[in-house]
Amino acid sequence: MLDDNEIQDNQLIIGGIPATDLAAEYGTALQVYDVSKIRSQIRAFQRVFKENDIEYAVSYASKAFACLAMYQVLAQEDAHADVVSGGELYTAIQAGFPMDHVSFHGNNKSRAELEMAISHHVGVIMLDNFYEIQLLSEVLADLDETTNVMLRVSPAVSAHTHEFIQTGQQDSKFGFDIITGQADEALQQVLNEPNMNLIGVHSHIGSQIFETDGFKIETEKLVNLMQHWHDEFGFTPQIINVGGGFGIKYTDDDHPIRPEDFVQQILTTLRAETESRGLATPAVWIEPGRSIAGPAGTTLYTVGSSKTIPEIRKYVAVDGGMGDNIRPALYGAEYDAVVANDVHDDNTELITLAGKYCESGDILIKDIELPVVQPGDIIAVLATGAYGYSMASNYNRNERPAVVFVENGKSQIAIERETYADLIHLDRNLTI
Ligand SMILES: *Cc1c(COP(=O)(O)O)cnc(C)c1O
Repeated sequence: MLDDNEIQDNQLIIGGIPATDLAAEYGTALQVYDVSKIRSQIRAFQRVFKENDIEYAVSYASKAFACLAMYQVLAQEDAHADVVSGGELYTAIQAGFPMDHVSFHGNNKSRAELEMAISHHVGVIMLDNFYEIQLLSEVLADLDETTNVMLRVSPAVSAHTHEFIQTGQQDSKFGFDIITGQADEALQQVLNEPNMNLIGVHSHIGSQIFETDGFKIETEKLVNLMQHWHDEFGFTPQIINVGGGFGIKYTDDDHPIRPEDFVQQILTTLRAETESRGLATPAVWIEPGRSIAGPAGTTLYTVGSSKTIPEIRKYVAVDGGMGDNIRPALYGAEYDAVVANDVHDDNTELITLAGKYCESGDILIKDIELPVVQPGDIIAVLATGAYGYSMASNYNRNERPAVVFVENGKSQIAIERETYADLIHLDRNLTI
């Protein structure tokens, strides 16, 4: 899982700094991002489009991980950002992120969220359902504004991934269904809205996808739809947005192709499909979340108690768990880990890495062979940058961890560790 330059003197190095130094300076549990990995993945995506001479946007899906500093890195790299809530939008605004590079998603945006997005002139509203077309129409009329929109369609593609994180199949809460004609109906409605400028069509087929077939079928279906809309309604989308979902390596059992290679496959399919029909090649937007944030993140924990049940299992508990990373408990996600202060050691044992939360299911890694650890050792769980902190909770009234950005031997706090005072700052004393 680790590159050679990430291990020095048998120590884990992140962004040029020993992980144990980061743990000592900022405490644990600690979410660390190697910012150079975020940048290089964004650039790898952008390079594919440039090489293929296709107009593009690499729009980072904020839900994987967002904070002020993250939006500032994205802005430096000329990436766009997807937001799905007023809160993500607010964070992007406060970060000074360019609003014309924001796509606003969601299957139940409130009137207040739409008003906020419109008054800040976000780049595009991703229309998800008929109710929203109506609501947005009213908001635009009330505010006397216009906006770009895209139609989110569900292309009925099932990519091979876990059911809970699949969103593109026909039976989905997201988007207008193509097969039953809802997408056509939505198109006609939007073309009749004077304040909406329809710039493209969007779909997203799932997450942590390893197969290219799903993206190929999705692209073909979108081009079919493009042709159908062109022939039937005289409307040709300028942009095809294929969503995100590019799978990453969490453990040595995962063998995904490089995220940018998925994009190459999509572009190859798109070019062949559009050229054979005599359609102009549209711009292509992608929305990677996990593939940008995931591999850049590492979570550092300090080892505390352990418990050996003879012949059955040894549990080693750390000072974090499902409150900072719910994915193993939520859908059986698997991770790899190393002992940050003793990466390679022949004296290993099979353990289960447990969290400190009051749930038997609060297990970070079931069965991992690690060097024998003592209380105080630092365990680093790898590739935790996506859907970890962003799904963090205060379960058991534990403070959410600090988030640190590291690059070229420098580190900084990106999100402070919560304090006990933070935990009660919304609480009010009993008065009735
Ligand atoms: C979640 C989501 C993404 C990002 O998915 P990843 O698996 O993190 O790449 C992109 N687009 C939409 C619409 C999403 O809901």
